[in-house]
Amino acid sequence: MIYKHDVLVVGAGLAGMRAAIEAHNQGVDVAIVSKVYPVRSHSNAAQGGINAALGEGDTWESHGYDTVKGSDYLGDQDAIEILAREAPAAVLELEHWGVNFSRDETGHLGTRNFGGASQARTFFVADITGQALLQVMFEQLVRVGVRMYNEWFVTRLIESEGVVRGIVGMDIRSGQLHAIQANAVVLATGGMGRVFEPSTNALINTGDGMAIAYRAGARLMDMEMMQYHPTTLKGSGALLTEGARGEGAYLLNSEGDRFMKKYAPNKLELASRDVVSRAEQTEINEGRGIENCVLLDCRHLGKDLIMRKLGQIHELALELAGVDIVQEPVPVRPGFHYPMGGIKTDVDGKTTLDGLYAAGECACVSIHGGNRLGANSLLDTVIFGRRAGAAASEHSRALPSPADSFPLGETALQQETERIRALLDRPSVGELAAKVRWDMGVNMVKHCGVFREAGGLTEMGDLLHSLQDRATRVHVGDKGRVFNTNLTSVLELQFMLDLAVAVQVTALTRTESRGAHTRTDYPERDDEHWLKHIQLQYRPEGPEIHFTPVTMTRWEPQVRSY
Ligand SMILES: Cc1cc2nc3c(=O)[nH]c(=O)nc-3n(C[C@H](O)[C@H](O)[C@H](O)COP(=O)(O)OP(=O)(O)OC[C@H]3O[C@@H](n4cnc5c(N)ncnc54)[C@H](O)[C@@H]3O)c2cc1C
Repeated sequence: MIYKHDVLVVGAGLAGMRAAIEAHNQGVDVAIVSKVYPVRSHSNAAQGGINAALGEGDTWESHGYDTVKGSDYLGDQDAIEILAREAPAAVLELEHWGVNFSRDETGHLGTRNFGGASQARTFFVADITGQALLQVMFEQLVRVGVRMYNEWFVTRLIESEGVVRGIVGMDIRSGQLHAIQANAVVLATGGMGRVFEPSTNALINTGDGMAIAYRAGARLMDMEMMQYHPTTLKGSGALLTEGARGEGAYLLNSEGDRFMKKYAPNKLELASRDVVSRAEQTEINEGRGIENCVLLDCRHLGKDLIMRKLGQIHELALELAGVDIVQEPVPVRPGFHYPMGGIKTDVDGKTTLDGLYAAGECACVSIHGGNRLGANSLLDTVIFGRRAGAAASEHSRALPSPADSFPLGETALQQETERIRALLDRPSVGELAAKVRWDMGVNMVKHCGVFREAGGLTEMGDLLHSLQDRATRVHVGDKGRVFNTNLTSVLELQFMLDLAVAVQVTALTRTESRGAHTRTDYPERDDEHWLKHIQLQYRPEGPEIHFTPVTMTRWEPQVRSY
């Protein structure tokens, strides 16, 4: 089948839903596609909260400065100004839509401290903020009646000579491929956590949209900037929110020492994430860890506060590590969490391709630069989701009906049908997608981890070549059509390998240490040569590298200490 809409949003997390609601409000015909039922999107897993300078005495300038400093001066300041200025209205809009934010003793919206912030400006719903936001956003989407293609897996864009006019996707329930033509496509496909093992991310976070856009000719930016979160649970790698440290929990090494006083004497555990992750990893590397972990101590917070504000992490630690955080400190370590990089966009979500927009975690505006501050990502999704929805609608209104791209859609659909058939027809011998993915993931953490250096990065480059070769022999054991997750996992593996190469190449290129990118062979930040973004353009022979300036408005680079 070929379907048609003015604007098509891919992804039904917070960014996608916010974009779709905005497009609907702008009066265009909009639809939304998601490979999982919308409320299963990873936004659901967000725990700690969402930032806004709403409190007394707080200002958007302070939020903006903290974000710029957090980014290690790589964030584009025009975009950061928009984020900080629009935050209060965006959070109040969510509250008016029905998000039951936690309140303080006086009945006002409550705030908690978060890393890298000079004021407590994180608004939260206990430690299930994402779930609360996503459910309310979904209600709004249902209320306005946006058409949804749920459990549809998008495999490629309909693109020709730099112009995008829709997608090809598979209805996972039937295995049938369809084209959806649209004047504008907004990608809101979320993160790429599963390129790394372990990771705090859902299994569905395989970077599909980033890879699809990249292959179609859009640029990726800041891909060397990958965030490791300081408090991920031993073993599973599940996230224990920064909100725990925000409420007063602290970190101890094997000697019972609160080691953050050495690394960040002013902010201690609430320094930004890159700083805390590096400190933990240094303690572990220098022999003051406990089985590759340090300890997160929540005991002094007391049972009442823990159960009221940190109930989910209490449950996670108990179920996944057998530790009751009321009674004992819990082993944690830095774990892969979030890509600061993604599809390069302007402040209206526009990518380098005509008709293609991106927002949320898959996009790089660039707000987060070298390091994202906790609770700025949920904010990023609603602010830039809305802006991308508006810009895509405007783009669509200036064009004739999506039917005009008809021949393009049919050709893309045919090509994709043949490609998938060939994949299914591969003989059932050879490599398993899961095995190739695992080998990629553990080695990405090893070589593109908290600390990196040329030798390991080069080794990773060679390994990625051999993994790509192995991926050409991956087979799909399940030959059926209905809910063939074996097939989708093979498609996801291809996306992830492209992104792994992008991370490795940019990490090797940037010969300095900035934000989350720490090169042990180039330990200093080097503003003279590296105050710039690295952009990548897909080429079959390997990524083509471009450098672009960082946009500065009012904040000059300074020495960064916490
Ligand atoms: C455990 C955890 C806790 C977090 N806590 C916080 C926090 O407290 N505060 C904060 O600010 N940030 C937090 N973050 C980060 C934040 O939650 C995410 O960055 C944000 O929610 C991402 O939203 P999104 O809309 O961009 O993507 P997602 O919510 O990940 O949604 C992606 C969507 O894309 C769809 N999709 C993907 N690929 C395809 C495809 N091929 N075809 C069709 N559909 C596709 C998926 O179905 C899904 O609907 C946390 C992240 C994690 C993992």
